[in-house]
Amino acid sequence: MGSIQLDHLTKRFGETVAVEDVTLDIADSEFLVLVGPSGCGKSTTLRMLAGLETPTAGDLYIAGEHMNYRVPQNRDIAMVFQDYALYPHMTIHENVRFGLEEEAGYTDSEMDERVEEVAETLGIDDLLDRKPGELSGGQQQRVALGRAIVRDPEVFLMDEPLANLDAKLRAKMRTELQRLQADLDVTTVYVTHNQTEAMTMGDRIAVLNDGQLQQVGEPLELYHEPANQFVAGFIGEPMMNFLHGNRADAGFVGEHIEYPFDERLERAVDGVDDLVLGVRPEAVDVRRADESSAPNLGPHEFEMTVSVTETHGDQNILSLTHAAESVDHDVLRAVTDGMHIVKPGEPVTVAIDPETIHVFDGKTGKTICNRRIETARELTI
Ligand code: ATP
Repeated sequence: MGSIQLDHLTKRFGETVAVEDVTLDIADSEFLVLVGPSGCGKSTTLRMLAGLETPTAGDLYIAGEHMNYRVPQNRDIAMVFQDYALYPHMTIHENVRFGLEEEAGYTDSEMDERVEEVAETLGIDDLLDRKPGELSGGQQQRVALGRAIVRDPEVFLMDEPLANLDAKLRAKMRTELQRLQADLDVTTVYVTHNQTEAMTMGDRIAVLNDGQLQQVGEPLELYHEPANQFVAGFIGEPMMNFLHGNRADAGFVGEHIEYPFDERLERAVDGVDDLVLGVRPEAVDVRRADESSAPNLGPHEFEMTVSVTETHGDQNILSLTHAAESVDHDVLRAVTDGMHIVKPGEPVTVAIDPETIHVFDGKTGKTICNRRIETARELTI
């Protein structure tokens, strides 16, 4: 079936190494999201899978067959791009049917039948007589999908297929695509630079940076157990807070914060001097400071001031600055419950539980230790 193996795959364009020694196994029926910042090599990887680029080194297998030099038509794949590339002079029916025309073994009436079947699955059956220019962006996107799935390929390759849609439609199409992929049970490689799409859609996520594979794992694994500071910063919105500093007798000493280590952290950082502490914004516990009495702070509590409040309705995102310093020095960002109004300038007490702290090697960026997580809890409503 449609499993995919990338075995030490490299692609160079002259001096540029677009993809460097990437090894990755994608299971049959899996939805794998390839994510990373602009220029990290996502599209080049996908284009090698599609047969639009030839690898410089390494091997590529689809369904166990060596693919390096096989032409796209013989790979049993279907691609959907950001730019839907529909033919404007053809009707929607003809556009979808076009996906089948190069396939052998279909009679005309079988092709029409198949088009109608796919159109129904995608909810575009009432649009088949229109031209692409008469469709909305979301409808055009569905037609492009229809053209891809009509052939019933072994593998779907999608390159930012939702990038041209507005935020609401993108969210809707995300769900639709997931459902469609699960129904069709087709191995899918989905490229995006958008970490929300990666987190919400992927069975697993592969994070690329500078052509190199940083980590592959399930969404929550990447979120809670990032392999390095790059993955920790890339996955999660608002992003993880990073505090740069050094090891000291009492624990960590940074530019803005001193943070005593507990036994777990103490053991983990043994022998490393240059440190980066990471803490997710939702792990920063913010309480209104009691101004009537002198603060009685615990070792992991700090006096801070709110510098900016971003109101999202369901939550607030607060930028926090050290109480003693000028307001332009934000130290942390925190997510708080949207039902509580917090105004800029308010003094707050911030607590950071040592269990929630990630530590990275300041020199290499590698993870020294990740936060502790309880065993996932069952959903109880
Ligand atoms: P984006 O999200 O911006 O599309 P990407 O992660 O898909 O980026 P690629 O398009 O794969 O990145 O490009 C990876 C690197 O390879 C970039 O540095 C890019 O400039 C380079 N590159 C890609 N295609 C070519 C080409 N045909 N010739 C030369 N360099 C190329």
